[in-house]
Amino acid sequence: MAFTKKYVALPGCSEHHTGLAIDLAVNKPDIDFIRPEFPYNGICHKFREKASKFGFVERYPEGKESVTGIAWEPWHFRYVGFPHSAIMRQEEMTLEEYHLFLKEDASGTNPFVYHANGRRIEMSFQKADKNGLTKIDVDDEALCVVSGNNTDGFIITVWR
Ligand SMILES: [Zn+2]
Repeated sequence: MAFTKKYVALPGCSEHHTGLAIDLAVNKPDIDFIRPEFPYNGICHKFREKASKFGFVERYPEGKESVTGIAWEPWHFRYVGFPHSAIMRQEEMTLEEYHLFLKEDASGTNPFVYHANGRRIEMSFQKADKNGLTKIDVDDEALCVVSGNNTDGFIITVWR
């Protein structure tokens, strides 16, 4: 039972239900579908090196169990989008830590700025209004992506 609680989420509580998560395994006979083997060497290492360039992060890293509330799962990757993935990898932040970072250090008119592919990318947090309607000012000249943080606000990403 403890094993099940540690590695199997209750229905509706798994990140897999978002469609943004994937479990990966080394292709071999008898794959353990609860805790698949995805080591830190060979092709798995190469995957990890490139994953953040394509928007993926290792979601539940070793040593961050108290932050994520989930056991170390080296096989579980989550799509968070670029450049969030690159920043999280570079700064060794979990999604929880990244959300907190944006909330505390990059709100409103003081965005966090990241440069990639010749673009200036600005990330910021905006708290959701209590009435359920949140007005977000966007620049018509820039690509703007708004996504909820699943708790109390929005992450706004502006590509210039
Ligand atoms: Zn998983």
